[in-house]
Amino acid sequence: MSDRRPLYVTRPELPPLEEFLPYLKEIWDTRILSNNGPFHQQFEQALCEHLGVRHISLFTNATMALVTALQSMRVTGEVITTPYSFVATAHSAMWNGIKPVFVDIDPVTLNLDPRKIEAAITPQTTAIMPIHCYGTPCDVDAIQAIADAYNLKVIYDAAHAFGVRRMEGGEMRSVLNHGDLSVLSFHATKVFNTFEGGAIIAPDAKTKQRIDHLKNFGFINETTVVATGINGKMSEFNAALGLVQLQHVDGAIRRRGEIDALYRKLLADVPGIRLLAPPADAQPNHSYFAVLIGPDFGVSRDAVYEALKAEQIMARRYFYPLISDFPMYRGLPSAAPANLPIARAVADQVLCLPIFPSLEDAEVERVVSVMLAARGQAVFGGPSVLPDVPSQPSGLLRSSTLALST
Ligand SMILES: *Cc1c(COP(=O)(O)O)cnc(C)c1O
Repeated sequence: MSDRRPLYVTRPELPPLEEFLPYLKEIWDTRILSNNGPFHQQFEQALCEHLGVRHISLFTNATMALVTALQSMRVTGEVITTPYSFVATAHSAMWNGIKPVFVDIDPVTLNLDPRKIEAAITPQTTAIMPIHCYGTPCDVDAIQAIADAYNLKVIYDAAHAFGVRRMEGGEMRSVLNHGDLSVLSFHATKVFNTFEGGAIIAPDAKTKQRIDHLKNFGFINETTVVATGINGKMSEFNAALGLVQLQHVDGAIRRRGEIDALYRKLLADVPGIRLLAPPADAQPNHSYFAVLIGPDFGVSRDAVYEALKAEQIMARRYFYPLISDFPMYRGLPSAAPANLPIARAVADQVLCLPIFPSLEDAEVERVVSVMLAARGQAVFGGPSVLPDVPSQPSGLLRSSTLALST
């Protein structure tokens, strides 16, 4: 077993420094630092090819991209969104003067529940803002059908969904091509990082051009400003790093998949622990490994969280608290606990375990052994004494341990 380094929920991937130095040299030579420079253009092109999408506009981060995405679609009034996300999702609406309306999540995918959207639509509703939580694709067809019926825009917070594909018409296609726009995050903690960064995926060149203007203060040429834009531009430094990172991301996702499989093997059949079903007909990115710790585990989620922390394993409660519980949102009628029973139950049970490419198998085993020890089960010392448990049948949801029915 390796020395017991502290384990965080993630550890940012970086390429070998030597691979990045020539790019830095070029930036120093050309003195082109920002404003749609050569690396920015190359990175947009390379991302389109890698992800299988048509048009990308790079941003300084995903939050700025979300704010600009809503602005570019002229979303006003109310936007229907999920409470089970990172706070930036709802904040981006508020930055546009739009009221978020929270709708509960699906107990299996933990994504916005399309069956509950229609009841929340009012004359003020102009858009739906779902997220592909942990990279699990939303029910994009059901959401689009509602959007079409009520003439609503759909803006996906796809911060978790880098590289995620789903089966469509006999082919694996990017999930990022759905809705009017999708927004990616390249923050340090995400599957693919440029230190900080983000992007909007747009369906056509005209929409991308409008977004490009909005992220550059609204300038359309040297002297003409046509909108109250912001500075959302990605720098040449981040774009160059992205070009190098792109060469390594497939390998990183492959290793994440192995870690995911090992966790599933070690945690299968543990009473009280529910694993999320791998999405059917999709190519996931294993961006997070979330477990739900139910009442019959014996001890609470927070007890497990503390037990891990005492062993220097910093698991994270993504997403707890719910966005709708933060002070600027909790007064909204849609934030009422009775409106969001599934999201509430999940937020109280969820724990995201460490997952990152350089995490070793022995460290995964250590995480699991600390979890099991937390409820009083005998600790096992190493791989050799691990119980040989059958892996979880794919697609089978062990929901019996989660009291979600309401
Ligand atoms: C990380 C994250 C964001 C914010 O991304 P930044 O690039 O840090 O601004 C937004 N939404 C979700 C769901 C996220 O996980």
